[in-house]
Amino acid sequence: MPFYARLYSRRVQPALERAKGKATPVFEQFLAESQTWEPERLEAWRWGELEQLLTWAVVQVPFYRRWFQEGGITPQEIAAARDLGPLPIISKQMIQAAPEDFRAAAPPEGSYAKSTGGTLGQPLHFLVNPLSDQWRMAVSRRGYAWAGCVPGRKQVHLWSGDLVPLPWKAGLKRGLHRLAQRQRFVDYYRMLGPEEVRAAMEVIDRFGPDCLVAYPSGAEALAGQALDMGWRPRKPLLSVLTGAERLLPQQRQLIERALGCPCFETYGSREFMLMASECPAHQGLHVSAENVILEVDAPPGEVGELLVTDLHNYAQPFIRYQGGDLASWLQGPCACGRTLPRLTGVEGRVMDAIRTPAGGRLTGLFFPHLLKDYPAIAQYQIVQPALDRVVLRLVLKEALTAHQEQVILAAVRKALPGVDALIEPVGEIETTPSGKVRITIGLGES
Ligand SMILES: [Zn+2]
Repeated sequence: MPFYARLYSRRVQPALERAKGKATPVFEQFLAESQTWEPERLEAWRWGELEQLLTWAVVQVPFYRRWFQEGGITPQEIAAARDLGPLPIISKQMIQAAPEDFRAAAPPEGSYAKSTGGTLGQPLHFLVNPLSDQWRMAVSRRGYAWAGCVPGRKQVHLWSGDLVPLPWKAGLKRGLHRLAQRQRFVDYYRMLGPEEVRAAMEVIDRFGPDCLVAYPSGAEALAGQALDMGWRPRKPLLSVLTGAERLLPQQRQLIERALGCPCFETYGSREFMLMASECPAHQGLHVSAENVILEVDAPPGEVGELLVTDLHNYAQPFIRYQGGDLASWLQGPCACGRTLPRLTGVEGRVMDAIRTPAGGRLTGLFFPHLLKDYPAIAQYQIVQPALDRVVLRLVLKEALTAHQEQVILAAVRKALPGVDALIEPVGEIETTPSGKVRITIGLGES
């Protein structure tokens, strides 16, 4: 590993975080060891964590206070049986319908609000406490480190950019942080066509990253054009990390062939951050089992709904939360020696790209990112009926202000040159036969 990356990730960053009173370095050290614990030891540890969380939820969270009172079962019994089965499955709709019911009456100090646009077209607003945030950061760093991507090692992120500029102070702080971490960002939402992809290649050639972090569709666009042009990064890449969408086998093949390095798939969400990531054995994704308990609502080996329990979010406990993704378990030990359970992969994030008259393609992920910050929007779906038009179908809890409409439409028009956008309030959004909402319905690839 380069000297700077070693110095920054092992000395500078932990010292800075300790000075701020953060436990992240301690968690990182713990996670480095727990990933190879005997499965029984890890299980005992995490059911202990779960018992603490449930005990807190009974006192603090109205939904669980009622449920445990009526259920005639205790957190201790659930933890001792090591079975979440008796606990209710909670959904985004349940939380949306009664947000206060799922929040701690007195959240830990420093808890803050977050939102997600969701991959099912329903924004969600929730709380996170600082210690949970530090756990999340620590598991994310571990997962990324499996791909050689540690803070301080040069990395280019083809990722979602800001839709509304940050206030200058926050922008400066983030800029300095990224500089220290040696991260360069390229706004993937602007990567509509060959010219923008070419510009991303220039950033990569100038900066010379070891790792590339991208949406699968972004890495695919880069790889496809790289093959066409005969381009390879000036400095060979060590790894490509993908997230936010499922990495399809054909995408992986194309990216690895074009960019000349292995892909590492990650799985995460705004609600929980990194939940699973690929190790150098490239056989499934190891779960961040110290921070989340994942259940697959199907017999072993079969694909089912994924349920997530976050062990450390005391501000808003998510217990058996159904986020809408599908997954299956991979059996047996991994060649890498880590004992963390593995998923074969996660499905359920299929959305169409929206096209522009000039031949550009905008990922459907743009829309959850854009719409997540508007509490008035209960649900949405974006439809492209013609090449020069998109319609934002919105189920609204209350009317948007004229200013909000303007901001949303301006962002869409800016991201999609030559395409007119309009908002259409609707009573409900049709679901697919399996009960899912398609966030974007494009024109197809004809
Ligand atoms: Zn492994």
